[in-house]
Amino acid sequence: MFDAVPDGSETHGPLSRRLTVLSGPSGVGKSTVVAEIRRAHPRVWLSVSVTTRPPRPGETHGVQYFFVDDAGFDRLVDEGELLEWAEFAGNRYGTPRRPVEERLDRGEPVLLEIDLQGARQVRRTMPEALLVFLAPPSWEELVRRLTGRGTEPPEVVERRLATARVELAAEKEFDVTLVNTSVRDVCDELLALMAVH
Ligand code: 5GP
Repeated sequence: MFDAVPDGSETHGPLSRRLTVLSGPSGVGKSTVVAEIRRAHPRVWLSVSVTTRPPRPGETHGVQYFFVDDAGFDRLVDEGELLEWAEFAGNRYGTPRRPVEERLDRGEPVLLEIDLQGARQVRRTMPEALLVFLAPPSWEELVRRLTGRGTEPPEVVERRLATARVELAAEKEFDVTLVNTSVRDVCDELLALMAVH
């Protein structure tokens, strides 16, 4: 059903034609890819999500995320300010609608890095968007990344692996799969898909 890459022509206007969504299982390296694009291709505009998660060391408000409290997030949801949002590991994450729509209106490419639930919402509300699935080089590699810290109790690790198995099955819902063998290569492939040169 999803084997053709939509080109946004004929039936769809320019809005959302150049919307690209990068998603994939947790632990696959989505945020590393985005950090590399931010570093090496600062011209590419990346949507900055809103989250209720507290900042990690080195994260800056307005760069990696806009950090808000629960009431602030509720307000954004109530006012329809989020294009999509999802709860992930006990925190909420969402994409501010306006900055995305403004850029798409101007015909500028937009990249969203969001979880699978968010990608499914975009699939429903903006079917012209290009959905890109970031896959691990192998199951063993994903296990290594998910268990890498080695500090979690076995039941936590088991739960994470069970989730990862379900998440990997989502690949067939996507237009394109990129295998994360090298961050550089994935960035180049992603930018080529977005027609950013
Ligand atoms: P982290 O807390 O590690 O930065 O992100 C956790 C998860 O939230 C990642 O899978 C990331 O892709 C996802 N995420 C980040 N921003 C958004 C967003 O705006 N919407 C959705 N649905 N997921 C997001």
